[in-house]
Formats: sequence, C-alpha cells, structure tokens
Amino acid sequence: MGQKRVLITGGAGFIGSHLCDLFIQKGWAVVCVDNLLTGTKENVRHLLRQRRFSFIRQDLSKPIRVPGPVASILHFASPASPPDYLKYPIETLKVGALGTYHLLETAKEKKAKFLLASTSEVYGDPLVRPQGESYWGNVNPVGPRSVYDEAKRFAEALTSAYRRKHRVNTRIVRIFNTYGERMRPEDGRVIPNFIAQALSGMPLTVYGEGRQTRSYCYISDLLRGIEKALESDFHDPVNLGNPNEMTVLKLAKLILKLTASKSHVVFRPLPADDPKQRCPDIRLAKKVLNWAPQVRLEQGLRAAIRYFREKSSFER
Ligand code: UDP
Repeated sequence: MGQKRVLITGGAGFIGSHLCDLFIQKGWAVVCVDNLLTGTKENVRHLLRQRRFSFIRQDLSKPIRVPGPVASILHFASPASPPDYLKYPIETLKVGALGTYHLLETAKEKKAKFLLASTSEVYGDPLVRPQGESYWGNVNPVGPRSVYDEAKRFAEALTSAYRRKHRVNTRIVRIFNTYGERMRPEDGRVIPNFIAQALSGMPLTVYGEGRQTRSYCYISDLLRGIEKALESDFHDPVNLGNPNEMTVLKLAKLILKLTASKSHVVFRPLPADDPKQRCPDIRLAKKVLNWAPQVRLEQGLRAAIRYFREKSSFER
C-alpha cells in the first residue's frame, strides 16, 4: 500500500487548514483545495514546502479532476460566517449544492470515504433544546440565512442519497459554533469580533439584547471529533459541539475580563432570523464516537486571544 491521500476542500480556511496540519502530522499526503474566497493561503503557507502537501486553487462549483488515488474526501469548503454567506449568497449555495455533487462523484469514482462538514444551522432557529440529531429543524427557506442553511441541508440529502444509491462510504458531522486560532479578525462571527474589538479598545457590538445563546467548541476538540467520525462506521449525522451554553452578553463580559480591556458594550440590531438558542445534544457523539469536548471556554479563549494579539502585533 502506498501513502494514504486525503482531499480537503476549504483547506485554506479556519477548520480546513487545521485539518491539513492534522493529516500531514499523521503522515498522509494532503491535497488542499480552496478558491480563497474566504480562506487565505497564509493558513497553509507553512505547509507549502512539504513534499506531501499540494494546493489547488479551484472553485468547486466546477467539476474537479484529481489524478491518482484518494482515500478520503473532507468537504469543508463554504463561507461559514453569517456576514460572509450574506455577502456571497450564490457562491454559498453553489458550493453546498454543486460542490458537494462534484465531490460525491469524485468519491464514487475513487472509492473514497466522504465526510461532509454540516452545521447546527440545519436546525435553524430551533424550537427544542438541546438540539439532538432527530430534530428536523426550524429553517426559514427564503430568509437571508437560508443560503447557508438550505445549502447544507441539501448537501446532507445528497450525501445520504449517494450512500443509498451508490454505496459511497459517507459521514456527516453537524458542527456547532467553533472558535480558535486562524479565524480572521474581520471574520464577523461573534468570538473574533469581540476579541478584535476588545484588543483594539473598540466597543463590543452585542446584537439584540444579547440574550440569545450559543455553545462554543474549541478547535482542537472539534478536530478530534472529526477524526473519530472518519474512523468510525457511523453514517448518520452526528453533532459535534460543546454543550456549555451561554448568552452572547455573558460571552462579551467574559472576553472583556480575559483581555483586561477597557472597552464597553454597545447594542446593535439583531440580524434577521438570528437563532435565539443553540446547544448541542452530544449523547450520540459520546455513544458512537466516544467523543466529548475537553477544553474549557476560558482556556480556549485565552489561546484565541493570544493568537489575535500576536497577529495584530505582527501586522502593525
Ligand atoms: N453576534 C453579536 N455581535 C457580533 C457578532 C455576532 O452579538 O459582533 C451574535 C449573533 O447575533 C448571534 C451570535 O452572536 O446571535 C453568534 O453569531 P455568529 O455570527 O458567531 O454565528 P451564528 O451562531 O449566528 O451562526
């Protein structure tokens, strides 16, 4: 057997680039595919000299040709921050729909495992708490967020159909809010926004009254979950997230404390269809993957704050 080869789409993005690192460390050959719409080559620059690493700049709404064997495909390409997918609505729908289709065709042809990065957004503005995998969700199919939510729901449906019809060996992970190093300061999601604002002395922009909740998972915990999902035989969707739920206002205060910032909080309008609550039920992940997050929020936030500090001093 030659060396195992993995295709990672969105490989220059936040989660994708960490996956590239992980598979290089495991001794695999890594083909990183990204169109650099929201990802950046900076995230993988340290890998470019590696013989086992290759980078393809490509938009996945067009078919992809990868010569040679591929053992696994990890499909992580998509704008993922609400401001990003609102800015690139058609691209988001295309990569979730056409991109997933082209990669499932590749998986079928190469007899590769296929892992879809899905999302807690498939539950929309959920009416149950916590959200278990059997909940079908509450999504506005024509609202501004639908470009992401419905693209991922379609991607799950297509992945399931390829499994049933063509016996492609698939996995679906539903990723809840994740944070850590390599998020862009201008990413627009709540943790990078608050950290960047706190460090630059700007007010922290809390949307609505800040009573909506989220549950934040640190990147290293998520990576372990993805690895376990890929190694398991479990094919149905599985939640990966940290069930430590808190309000956005409480998060703002925690980041102010951890950065020792003198910034204050300002309230801004709540975006349309912003989910009021989000908390993963992770009993299935515990049972079938023997996975649970380990990193406490303060610990993960300290690491992310350090990264943002270093990045801003480097760029000055
Ligand atoms: N949010 C906020 N201020 C910001 C950015 C986001 O209050 O500067 C809120 C947002 O309205 C949402 C939560 O924080 O309720 C998480 O938003 P994010 O964009 O990180 O991701 P989402 O979970 O909505 O996909």
